[in-house]
Amino acid sequence: MGSLPVDASAKAGAPAHEFGFDHELHARDARGTLVAGSAPRWAMRLSLLTLVIVVGLLIVLFVLERRFPLRHSRAALLARLFVNGCVSLLAFVVAALVVRPAALHALDWAAERPFGLVHLLRLPAWAQFVFGFLLLDLFFYYWHRLNHQVPLLWRFHNVHHIDPALDVSTGFRFHFGEVFFSALFRVVQVSAIGMSFATFAAYELVFQANTLFHHSNLRLPLRLERWLNKAIVTPRMHGIHHSQVRHETNSNYGVVFPWWDRIHRTLGLNVPQSTIEIGIAGYSLPADNTLWSTVALPFSRQRDYWRKPDGSIPERRDPGPPNRRHELAE
Ligand SMILES: [Zn+2]
Repeated sequence: MGSLPVDASAKAGAPAHEFGFDHELHARDARGTLVAGSAPRWAMRLSLLTLVIVVGLLIVLFVLERRFPLRHSRAALLARLFVNGCVSLLAFVVAALVVRPAALHALDWAAERPFGLVHLLRLPAWAQFVFGFLLLDLFFYYWHRLNHQVPLLWRFHNVHHIDPALDVSTGFRFHFGEVFFSALFRVVQVSAIGMSFATFAAYELVFQANTLFHHSNLRLPLRLERWLNKAIVTPRMHGIHHSQVRHETNSNYGVVFPWWDRIHRTLGLNVPQSTIEIGIAGYSLPADNTLWSTVALPFSRQRDYWRKPDGSIPERRDPGPPNRRHELAE
């Protein structure tokens, strides 16, 4: 859904109340604005912590998924890494120039007025944190669904899906156009929820970490993953979302929590990973995944997404027992 890290330390010039913190901690000038350089240390630390965790996790998952692969792929790794690296870099530039300022401005705006869903109920601070955290994830669920259902958004989100294999390097591979649209979404999301900066920053960390985790090709013991999947979106669950079978692509939209898919009946877990063909059928030729093809894809005439070049449509012949839809398969 094209949301990339929002740097928490960028809040250096923002009003102190936004942090839900003691105003006296911060130097203010005559007009009451925060003096530059007085950013709360914890915000700086959290931002640094997010960066360290994301980079560290990226490296650890990259090493682990080579040792314990979940799915086997014939796609050339180096060529994919080049495309995914370049597409991710473009996405980061747009995230830094557009998404970050937009999200932080919205956060600033919302912090100055008791506006937003978390203020509808009179809740203690801890409950506001939990409620805000859950709502942020629910909004991302809807945003991901919209990216699949609105043709204009899907043109861009498709670039993420045509990767012929799925691993941690797919995690940040979003077209810069999708990242641009996500700036508008984040303004709506942050203003409508009206959560504290602490909630926003904590969710950001978990969101980024779990995005890398669920895109990874790491084989976990099935029992362990089933257990984890009760609370978070895991690699097997998200692997099904990257299947070429249409109704499987249009399932499992969750980012952090798997519960929204359960509630909205978009959950499908009973698909063995060894039977999944990763990618989008209409864009499954090696020539479709060059750097130029991926960047130009949303602006070119669209093909039938669900039909392979040989005319066949990927389908699942043995969908597995329906009573196992809510349980991961090997
Ligand atoms: Zn998707």
